Amino acid sequence: MATKNHYAFVIDVARCIDCRACLVACSVENNVPMDHTRIWVYDQGLQGTWPDLSRAFVPYNCMHCDNPPCTEVCVSGATYKDATSGLVLVDQEACIGCGYCVAACPYGARYIDQSRGVVDKCTACVQRLEVGLQPACVATCVGKSRLFGDLNDPTSEASLALKNAMSVTRLDYEGNGMDADPNIFYLNLPDTSSIKASDTFGQVPQSTLPRPSQYTLSEAGWKKVAIPLVAVAMGATFLAQAIFFTKQLIEGEKDFED
Ligand code: SF4
Ligand code: SF4
Repeated sequence: MATKNHYAFVIDVARCIDCRACLVACSVENNVPMDHTRIWVYDQGLQGTWPDLSRAFVPYNCMHCDNPPCTEVCVSGATYKDATSGLVLVDQEACIGCGYCVAACPYGARYIDQSRGVVDKCTACVQRLEVGLQPACVATCVGKSRLFGDLNDPTSEASLALKNAMSVTRLDYEGNGMDADPNIFYLNLPDTSSIKASDTFGQVPQSTLPRPSQYTLSEAGWKKVAIPLVAVAMGATFLAQAIFFTKQLIEGEKDFED
């Protein structure tokens, strides 16, 4: 389906340092429940044989596929491909929480938010795009590993990165007569042979998926510490600035009166 915009992520694996700032930014921006995440960083582990070893961290989220298997199975029409942005979105008012789309997604990019009984996943921070901002994960990425933009715009950051790339890997899913055509384009993905191997889902072996969309116990603890710390730090900065400017204002008024 041709859409007005063709938003895509371009992810340079060589630049990811596994700091996971993107996970925190996403959770804060989108109020993601504590025991879930909308995005992952998959540790490929050591690849190759000595001395030709490599290790890569692969950032990952919903691929906003051109032919999304998730929309095909949605019985309520809640999951749809937006005709303007091309993003795959969920109308959570219409979602009945049946979970068919969770099973249909070959990338494990969806989960059911048990507290609300609806499906949730990456929206590319559509609320930020509408006011001209980048998705929170992209804006926060310290290594500039995550890029995002409109492929219909040849001057977008994503278009330029793809134009200048030596090679690009798309973790395409081709199975059951479908070709998902995902919209995450990877640069510098070192070992594609394991990723291209067949499994029950076709070309996307489960071993290359990040993992189930739940945090481990230790990570849940980490998230519970990191997010409050970031919130407290932001609050303290705001308070300090407010005090500083109020002081300036009072002193300015005094000087004026004198
Ligand atoms: S990655 Fe999964 S959830 Fe996202 S559009 Fe593709 S099939 Fe749907
Ligand atoms: S913020 Fe960027 S560098 Fe850090 S883990 Fe996420 S993608 Fe990797």
